[in-house]
Amino acid sequence: MTHNIKVIDQLDLQDKRVFIRVDFNVPLADGRVADPTRIEAALLTIRHALDHGAKVILASHLGRPKGERNPDLSLEPVGIALADYLKVKVKLAPDCIGPEVERMVGAMKSGEVLLLENLRFHAGETKNDPDFARSLAKLADVYINDAFGTAHRAHASTEGMAHFVPERGAGFLLQREVDYLSRVLTNPERPLIAILGGAKVSDKIPVIQNLLHLVDALLVGGAMAYTFLRSKGQQTGRSMVEENQISLANELLSAAKDRGVSFLLPTDHVVADNAEEGSTATTVQGQIPNEKIGLDIGPDTIGAFEEEIGKARTIFWNGPMGLFEIKPFDKGTMAIAAALADSQALTVVGGGDSVAAVNRSGRAGDFSHISTGGGASLEFLEGKKLPGLAALE
Ligand code: AMP
Repeated sequence: MTHNIKVIDQLDLQDKRVFIRVDFNVPLADGRVADPTRIEAALLTIRHALDHGAKVILASHLGRPKGERNPDLSLEPVGIALADYLKVKVKLAPDCIGPEVERMVGAMKSGEVLLLENLRFHAGETKNDPDFARSLAKLADVYINDAFGTAHRAHASTEGMAHFVPERGAGFLLQREVDYLSRVLTNPERPLIAILGGAKVSDKIPVIQNLLHLVDALLVGGAMAYTFLRSKGQQTGRSMVEENQISLANELLSAAKDRGVSFLLPTDHVVADNAEEGSTATTVQGQIPNEKIGLDIGPDTIGAFEEEIGKARTIFWNGPMGLFEIKPFDKGTMAIAAALADSQALTVVGGGDSVAAVNRSGRAGDFSHISTGGGASLEFLEGKKLPGLAALE
């Protein structure tokens, strides 16, 4: 692990109150955990703490209660699911700070687990309020952050409290995220390529700017490609374009050229009259007719992207190649997922939509690393110091 950060297995946990900031922001349905992936991902760190004699205190946010108590966003269902995995009792605290929680923590024995209630029931969490951070820190001898998905946010539980505890470090999940993303960012095996897609160029400008210094090739698909094509004077019909980003897109294309970075844009497109299920899809080369909307990359583009993927030794992917939620506009995205799964390169995927596509492909096991943090992984690759990591140094 880089950044002078200790990992949980380098810390003495015996009989200590070990506060682990986990990511239990899971989808719920009918008061139950609908997808336990994030709970499963946290088990390694939790089990390590239990096996090493810790009193384990778990904290997470769930949804967006906006600083108010909301029973629909209680962590109770998470506690029930977690107990099933751990085969130990998981007590749920009525809150995440305060005298009653302190009393419960004071009564804990080694090997016990206490799950704190949703951190975001308090406005102090997202505001990184120092008093709230101190109240959390009071509960801990050792602070462990294992929530990569929120590491780019300076919140009380991800940043503030780390300064008020005697010892701090990273959980195994956070360690894995940083290790894999670092292998993209620092001395990657070359060729290194990045594949970017999704709707908005504006969200991805900073990462493109940084990636242009690092990658050998940048492959851009999804709606964001149309802003780049427009900046080259091409017609994009009724496709999604960010008019106010066109000149910046053009500057990025010139910067890529100056640096000798290949910047691949779609050369053919799957278009339709409407962005709806059942609309007739046709493929066009080059210019998109006035009345048509570009909704996916075409077969030639898929072929060109596959060729680059085949040559690469390190690949980062964020963002779908088209409107992949609606068939048949998912073909480009699914083809890229398959090409990455077939590749022998180091493959790192970040971002909710691309991760969903990977899962849908049924080949998640063929990727080197699937990041749990879309925003956090992009900010990491922008070269930014994530507050949640900086606080652990
Ligand atoms: P983002 O949040 O910017 O990564 O964008 C992800 C969204 O972009 C997904 O919901 C995709 O369906 C959507 N998207 C990608 N390509 C297109 C396209 N050509 N037209 C419309 N939406 C698209």
